[in-house]
Amino acid sequence: PVVLGIETSCDETGVGIVRGTTLLANVIASSMDEHARYGGVVPEVAARAHLEALTPTLDAALAEAGIALDEVDAIAVTSGPGLSGALMVGVGAAKALAVGSGKPLYAVNHLVGHVGADVLADEPIEFPTIALLVSGGHTSLLVVRDLVDDVELLGETIDDAAGEAFDKVARILGLPYPGGPQIDKAAVGGDPTAIRFPRGLLHPKDAEKHRYDFSFSGLKTAVARWVERAEDAGEAVPVADVAASFREAVVDVLLTKAFRACADLGIPRLLLGGGVVANARVREEAAARAASQGVTLRIPPLSLCTDNGAMIAALGAQLIAAGRAPSGLVFGADSTLPVTEIQVDRLPSH
Ligand code: ATP
Ligand code: MG
Ligand code: FE
Repeated sequence: PVVLGIETSCDETGVGIVRGTTLLANVIASSMDEHARYGGVVPEVAARAHLEALTPTLDAALAEAGIALDEVDAIAVTSGPGLSGALMVGVGAAKALAVGSGKPLYAVNHLVGHVGADVLADEPIEFPTIALLVSGGHTSLLVVRDLVDDVELLGETIDDAAGEAFDKVARILGLPYPGGPQIDKAAVGGDPTAIRFPRGLLHPKDAEKHRYDFSFSGLKTAVARWVERAEDAGEAVPVADVAASFREAVVDVLLTKAFRACADLGIPRLLLGGGVVANARVREEAAARAASQGVTLRIPPLSLCTDNGAMIAALGAQLIAAGRAPSGLVFGADSTLPVTEIQVDRLPSH
């Protein structure tokens, strides 16, 4: 089926079109620049930007796919999790589009969408797989046994998301938003072993309760204290060493937990997704550990790793292929939608 997917959970307005597992179009408008001066995504600004961007993005996606709306078989939209106001714009637009065109509507889970993006790859991963999703809003470790039927949350961050940590540490170092690419640049030539920053929840005492959880706020505070101390002592802050050492701590925690899950569950497959996967060290170190531990690693192209509409369309197409009924119109934006709810057909209970 030809499915059009709409994604507005954060600061990217995404409209993607797929035919089954073939990508036809993936158009993204980001309001990231508007959030730069605040150092993070401002929900109200994001929602307003979605309103402005949605219609042009939809038109651009249809043009890129070279099809008319008539030729679309179904519409898929992100119901959650994400920013409420931002999600509502996409949900409202998708409902209007579905009612106006008479097309079936599938409301889907954003996080599972990140995993679903991989079905568009030339050699998609097999299930079951472990999936690590790392972005500005999420740090989640999942076991995906069946994309449309069985997704379980192994662990997630108990405070800041990994991307958020990059953004906050960049700010501490006087670098602009978004911090991820800036830290990557600043770390060039830096010594990753120069400063031993803390690895959150990697202590043996955390091996039980927080075995698969993450924590990055202590790391951020440690970097802030280290920089403050250097400044107070009148020393020049070695930005490259701090950036490289911070990045190493994040990468070490993320990958140690992800590969631990592969080993514990006997699932030698790992899929990465989310904006932080753009990080040079994440990719390099993940490849190295995968090779040494006999794990098949999949990293979708970056345009499918960051928030986009194609992944939502792809998940919708998988639901249709599995014979699922449409969601109907009685669903809403659910900012805290659990990852176990892959398709949504009810209003949030909170
Ligand atoms: P959501 O959490 O809903 O997926 P998001 O907009 O935060 O939304 P993305 O757009 O996928 O998610 O990712 C943005 C995040 O990725 C930012 O926090 C940014 O700093 C981080 N990021 C981008 N490039 C890099 C990089 N090279 N290294 C580390 N982090 C990066
Ligand atoms: Mg984003
Ligand atoms: Fe996302």
